[in-house]
Amino acid sequence: MTLSYDKKDKAHDGTTLDVVVDEKEVLPHGLVRLRSGAIALTHVYCPNGHNLVDPNSGARFNGYPGITVKVKGKNREGLVVISPIHGDDTRFGESHFEPGEITEIRCPVCDVELPRLHECGCTPDARLVGLYLDDSLTEGNQVVFCNSWGCLRSRITDRFQIISKLD
Ligand SMILES: [Zn+2]
Ligand SMILES: [Zn+2]
Repeated sequence: MTLSYDKKDKAHDGTTLDVVVDEKEVLPHGLVRLRSGAIALTHVYCPNGHNLVDPNSGARFNGYPGITVKVKGKNREGLVVISPIHGDDTRFGESHFEPGEITEIRCPVCDVELPRLHECGCTPDARLVGLYLDDSLTEGNQVVFCNSWGCLRSRITDRFQIISKLD
């Protein structure tokens, strides 16, 4: 897999954020370090190997396509497109959930529920659920985020080492 990036161009979506890629740093798993310091995910996979970053979805976050997941709450279910930029809480799609509501996060392709890996701590039942950074589906190379609606706790790990986190 090649680790060179060609995303030097500024986004065309009107953002004021700095999306210039820091070319000095080469990250694994297709991760891109923006010069602002934030990390962007360029692909993530469900436990069955479906890539949830769809370049054709139309939703862009500072120029990067978003991560599409199916979110199922108490009364509502729908597709939510999450920003692939770690730390950016922008999202599109279904949003009729209560703050703190525990949701099931599923793959929009195969409907598998993302594995609940760790307690989050924000509410008693909240769990961090995981996606894989590569299609080899290697444990520890993951992005995990909370299944409680509105909680932003999340981390990106490379071989179980945290390389980016939001608490
Ligand atoms: Zn899937
Ligand atoms: Zn949480």
